[in-house]
Amino acid sequence: MADDGLVIVGAGLAGAKAAEAARSSGWEGAIRLVGAEAHLPYERPPLSKGVLSGHDRPTVAAVHESGFYVTNEIDLLIGAAAEALDLQARTVTLTGGRRLTFAKLVLATGSTPRRLPVPGMDLDGVFTLRTLDDSLALREELRAGRRVCVVGASWIGTEVAAAARERGCDVVMVDPLATPLERVLGAEVGGYFAVLHADHSVDLRMGTGLEAIEGSDRVSGVRLDDGEVVDADVVVVGVGVVADIALAEEAGLETASGVLVDSHLRTSHPDVYAAGDIAEAEHPVLGRRVRVEHWANALNQGRTAGTNAAGGSKVYDRIPYFFSDQYDAGMEYSGWPVPYDDVVFRGDPSDGEFVAFYLAGGLVVGGINVNVWDVNEAVQALIRSRTAVDTAVLADPDTDPKAWLPAG
Ligand SMILES: Cc1cc2nc3c(=O)[nH]c(=O)nc-3n(C[C@H](O)[C@H](O)[C@H](O)COP(=O)(O)OP(=O)(O)OC[C@H]3O[C@@H](n4cnc5c(N)ncnc54)[C@H](O)[C@@H]3O)c2cc1C
Repeated sequence: MADDGLVIVGAGLAGAKAAEAARSSGWEGAIRLVGAEAHLPYERPPLSKGVLSGHDRPTVAAVHESGFYVTNEIDLLIGAAAEALDLQARTVTLTGGRRLTFAKLVLATGSTPRRLPVPGMDLDGVFTLRTLDDSLALREELRAGRRVCVVGASWIGTEVAAAARERGCDVVMVDPLATPLERVLGAEVGGYFAVLHADHSVDLRMGTGLEAIEGSDRVSGVRLDDGEVVDADVVVVGVGVVADIALAEEAGLETASGVLVDSHLRTSHPDVYAAGDIAEAEHPVLGRRVRVEHWANALNQGRTAGTNAAGGSKVYDRIPYFFSDQYDAGMEYSGWPVPYDDVVFRGDPSDGEFVAFYLAGGLVVGGINVNVWDVNEAVQALIRSRTAVDTAVLADPDTDPKAWLPAG
């Protein structure tokens, strides 16, 4: 028999925001927030930045202090994984057998790092980076003078490389693509990141695959696909994530690479919502389903799912947004630019300050600003407008961003 409770599975950013939003939008019943990790809900961006470099204490990552959950009567069940979901009985069974009943359910189970199918992944000294515990264990290993091999030059890889250089490690970064971040930003902007990391003495091995991680108990190096063996004391594998959808899948919810939801973040079951990394959501502006593995998406989808589970009817139509900090370069990136057919630069990447617009069929579909601030809203307005733009205006560094969008 269902009670009046809201159960949220996954106590990361999306789950914590769902609980907060449900309570603030008037949900009066019980709220149970279930999390497999034995930590208060926390945000992950600092784990590859300030927490990893040692500039920040781990507590900076907490979504809320513990008192928040007490004050808002959110029952925090942490260190407890949901092992089974029965949609008909409306129950979630936790490790150890405890069974929670729900009237409404939000799934926010996040992602797990992909592993590489190469020998040596299980050696000591080989890391993936997802959790606070991963970050603290890796930080211990990033000691000055150590040789670190970063496998994968996407966001996690490039941020780990920067943090490792800040800690005085020697860093080699390996990726089969020709430039860092090429899959998400394309080769044009990827070239900027290649220079950024080379300027900070990262030894870039682009266009190179990994054949094996070598060592007996502990890693001693990596073997590249050109036969070279690179010595390494630590290997960090950052080759993407897989959405944790097993619970949803086994319960019979519709899934693809994520849990399928409509623009209200409702799954194929009317009382079950999904948010954050796992939600493969119909996007009214982009006109397609997208699954976004970014902080802002977890924050805002969590809020929308919590509000809607509490009886609201909010549509989620935010433009995907990502930020990153590497060395002294800060950047924001908005949109969904793949595929694009042109990149227009405002400013010269070699000066370290620029905006790049991604166009498809004459429309702006994405944009990144590097060490240029207060333009992201204008970039998002361009994407949302779906209006043809004058690329000469975009490229002109003297034009006010307010004028990017043609009048009328
Ligand atoms: C190191 C790192 C740095 C990042 N930096 C940035 C950045 O700079 N900018 C940016 O935009 N994005 C960044 N991201 C991505 C961003 O952090 C994620 O998109 C975000 O964490 C997704 O939030 P979520 O709540 O959906 O999932 P998660 O944060 O993964 O939280 C899900 C939680 O659910 C728990 N869980 C899973 N299954 C169960 C279960 N069956 N029962 C109970 N609990 C379960 C998990 O243990 C986890 O704690 C970064 C990610 C990482 C790992």
